[in-house]
Amino acid sequence: MKLPYAEPYRIKMVEPIFPSTQEQRSEWIKSAGYNLFNLRSEQVFVDLLTDSGTGAMSDLQWAALMRGDESYAGSRSFHELKDTVERITGFAHLLPTHQGRAAENVLFSVLVKEGDRVPGNSHFDTTKGHIEFRKATAVDCTVDQAFDTSSPHPFKGNLSLEKLRKEFTSTPKEQIPFCLITITCNTSGGQPVSLENIRQVSALCKEFSIPLFFDAARFAENAYFIQQREEGQKERSIKEICREMFSYGDGMTMSSKKDGLVNIGGFIALRDKALYDKASTLVIVYEGFVTYGGMSGRDMAALAVGLDEATEHGYLHSRISQVEYLGERLLKSGVPLQNPIGGHAVFIDALKFLPHVPREQFPAQTLALELYREAGIRGVEIGAILADRDPLTRENRYPQTEFVRLAIPRRTYTNNHMDYVAQAVENVFARRDEITKGYRIIEEAPIMRHFTVQLSPV
Ligand SMILES: *Cc1c(COP(=O)(O)O)cnc(C)c1O
Repeated sequence: MKLPYAEPYRIKMVEPIFPSTQEQRSEWIKSAGYNLFNLRSEQVFVDLLTDSGTGAMSDLQWAALMRGDESYAGSRSFHELKDTVERITGFAHLLPTHQGRAAENVLFSVLVKEGDRVPGNSHFDTTKGHIEFRKATAVDCTVDQAFDTSSPHPFKGNLSLEKLRKEFTSTPKEQIPFCLITITCNTSGGQPVSLENIRQVSALCKEFSIPLFFDAARFAENAYFIQQREEGQKERSIKEICREMFSYGDGMTMSSKKDGLVNIGGFIALRDKALYDKASTLVIVYEGFVTYGGMSGRDMAALAVGLDEATEHGYLHSRISQVEYLGERLLKSGVPLQNPIGGHAVFIDALKFLPHVPREQFPAQTLALELYREAGIRGVEIGAILADRDPLTRENRYPQTEFVRLAIPRRTYTNNHMDYVAQAVENVFARRDEITKGYRIIEEAPIMRHFTVQLSPV
């Protein structure tokens, strides 16, 4: 019989987490204004809010941390990181930043101006925020299958070449500073982009002389899906696939808190020295000198090791198998999910789960709150609250999908935790017909409102 997968590591240090009662949680969530971001971490038992900066580092990463070089300029840890990034991506010019959105801030400050349009596959929320903050528009060119949660397309992060060509021909070239591919595509459900699609998008960009960048937070998970699902890729190593993926682009922004396997950090990596020079000035203004950019030497040292570990097949296999484990069990119980299951998270289709809650009452947020009350599990809404208001009309935007994302931190929880989560979701699913009312907004910020929004039950 085929052996099941098992984690290619054992546990050396543990951290307690705290169970609570439903009564306690009802009280806590009320005080938090029905916003899961406002809870204290001790009020959460299994925290699936995000996989960003929440993972566990390896013994080798902790060892690297001790050897970090804290020199202000020319740190050895910077050069270790730079060499690792170049080996994995092929991009020779590295600018560290304190996290992913800082990389976006710097690069977009150089490239994006008012009135521009930036096509891509369902831009991440901070990415879209940085584009809209500059009075430019993020144009979503994701394939239509991405928004049909029951269609089992293997690469739902792909860009539609038709939509992209239409955008390239209808907008003056000066108004398209670049095209952005997000790997994997978080917003459509942690869905990968195929190597073939990246190649074709790159060719189209070349045809119109438009630069191509990657928002690469989960590039290693994307490479794993290419290895598993794309024809002719089975025998290639993850690192080979990464090199080819990045060979089609001009640079990347990275949130190291994801596939960097560290708790904080980000970077920009570029092919072009002239662009690097322009961005350098802004890194110095916003982040710090070009050889640390808001990161400590020890964090850069741990990141260099993390990038290597994240691009090993064994690690990725166990990581993605754990996400699948949770997803497969929920699918068996009939819970509607984005299918196939994403790389870093299970995305519950809240429109199908809670069909009686009107869209203006935020069904995904309602479901996320029910899950917290049921079992102390914290997921996150990826729906209308996150989608924010239209910057011009100030109307609520209703995206095609309403998800509750259960993001699995890397190397952090066991499959017992996954079983606990699955049972809690199944319990709420069993009483879904009783949930008919949602929430309304009483207070919200003008941009990225989901972090601070205050709600009240309808
Ligand atoms: C997390 C993330 C970002 C932003 O990075 P931070 O480190 O959170 O600032 C940008 N794009 C994608 C795809 C991400 O997942």
